[in-house]
Amino acid sequence: MPRRNVNCPDMSDGSIFYDVAVVGGGPAGLSAAIALAQGGANTALIARRAPYADNRTTALLGSSVDFLERLEVWPHCRDHAAALRTMRLVDDTGRLIRAPEVKFSCEEIGLEAFGYNIENRTLVAALEQRAAGLSNLTRFDDEAETVTPEDAAVVIRTGSGQLLSARLVVGADGRHSLCREAAGIEVVARELKQSALTFNISHSRPHRNVSTEFHTPEGPCVFVPLPGDRCSVVWVASPKEAERLKALGDEELSDAAEKRSHSILGRVKVEAGRNLFPLAIERPRQFAGKRVVLVGEAAHVIPPIGAQGLNLGLRDAADIADIVSEAVTACEDPGAPQTLRRYDFKRRADVLSRTFAIDIANRSLLSDLLPVQSLRAAGMHLLGSVGPLRRLAMSEGLAPSWRTRKPPTETPTGPSAEATSPSST
Ligand SMILES: Cc1cc2nc3c(=O)[nH]c(=O)nc-3n(C[C@H](O)[C@H](O)[C@H](O)COP(=O)(O)OP(=O)(O)OC[C@H]3O[C@@H](n4cnc5c(N)ncnc54)[C@H](O)[C@@H]3O)c2cc1C
Repeated sequence: MPRRNVNCPDMSDGSIFYDVAVVGGGPAGLSAAIALAQGGANTALIARRAPYADNRTTALLGSSVDFLERLEVWPHCRDHAAALRTMRLVDDTGRLIRAPEVKFSCEEIGLEAFGYNIENRTLVAALEQRAAGLSNLTRFDDEAETVTPEDAAVVIRTGSGQLLSARLVVGADGRHSLCREAAGIEVVARELKQSALTFNISHSRPHRNVSTEFHTPEGPCVFVPLPGDRCSVVWVASPKEAERLKALGDEELSDAAEKRSHSILGRVKVEAGRNLFPLAIERPRQFAGKRVVLVGEAAHVIPPIGAQGLNLGLRDAADIADIVSEAVTACEDPGAPQTLRRYDFKRRADVLSRTFAIDIANRSLLSDLLPVQSLRAAGMHLLGSVGPLRRLAMSEGLAPSWRTRKPPTETPTGPSAEATSPSST
């Protein structure tokens, strides 16, 4: 863990004053809090301790596993996660113009696995355990009731009336982010006429670490390996159809899932627990402002296509932790405008490019227009048949290659100077 510079002025002066306060204890917030504390920041985490409430799983791709390794969390997850070695995309639209099947294999880009699929509740339990073991991470088992940015700090009042201040607030408080509102950051939001039903299954044939995504005219239905002969299922459909599926009895839903999967996994048996998620695309106009930065779903909501959401959230967490670590080591204010600008610059292209790509993929699947269907089929054909293109798609799907690009040098009129001005986009 980097040590604080002993020459830095002590801001604590006996009151509850932190370098950083993270609001929200979902997987993105917990990861950010751990990474910030490990990076040397005196960190507060304002999050209710509650068991993870749904049965979602996450396909952790590319650098996400390295990041969790760095947080000393991955060793507690490894045995509960299934390796993803092959990804199949199957056009199951039944349309006149259909795309050929595309198969991505990790060996083709020299990897042992694209990533690992794990139940969110297992991941969150491992993150909670690690967070509890860090001496410079203080947990407030509470909600943030008000978040008030001021010139030199942000003041947070918790639900039980406790007051604390921090130089920087990390808003990890999900889709309806109070922190985002406090920073005056607007959101561009579009509800999709789709819902995702999630449930887990056991099956009679092995999955062989192959994740299969069936593309239907209402959205994708994906079977993602879990340890043993089990898979998690994310079934995207119209809200009405998703409600209907959710209401089915266990046997009926097992039959429906088996039919949807064309029996590639043999007999299917659904496990207890189903959750429904109305889908939307949301992006804030900025990723930072007024001593607040946004991570996880406070910073991006995208449909579950290509397993990108939390992978983006973990990159948010890694980036803000690196930026803050540099600031506190240099005795700089971690909530200063230049810190916010660096964060906004680092996250903007990654988040916007993924949101755009997923939106296009989803729209092209739903479109009834023949030219769109032809384009989609041609694109899939190229991916399937042109090796270099396929390999590029695989590498970029794991993490953007330009993440190593240097941020701009500090000038008041630099390309991301907008990060501190809510009205600038
Ligand atoms: C069906 C589905 C499948 C998905 N599959 C994948 C996948 O395979 N791979 C992937 O990378 N992503 C996936 N995603 C996306 C991923 O699930 C989300 O990106 C991720 O769960 C968001 O985590 P988060 O911590 O940002 O938000 P949340 O999990 O929503 O956490 C926010 C937390 O903040 C708390 N909070 C809110 N307000 C306050 C407050 N005022 N004070 C204190 N706490 C507060 C909430 O109680 C909550 O605990 C999927 C999404 C869906 C819908």
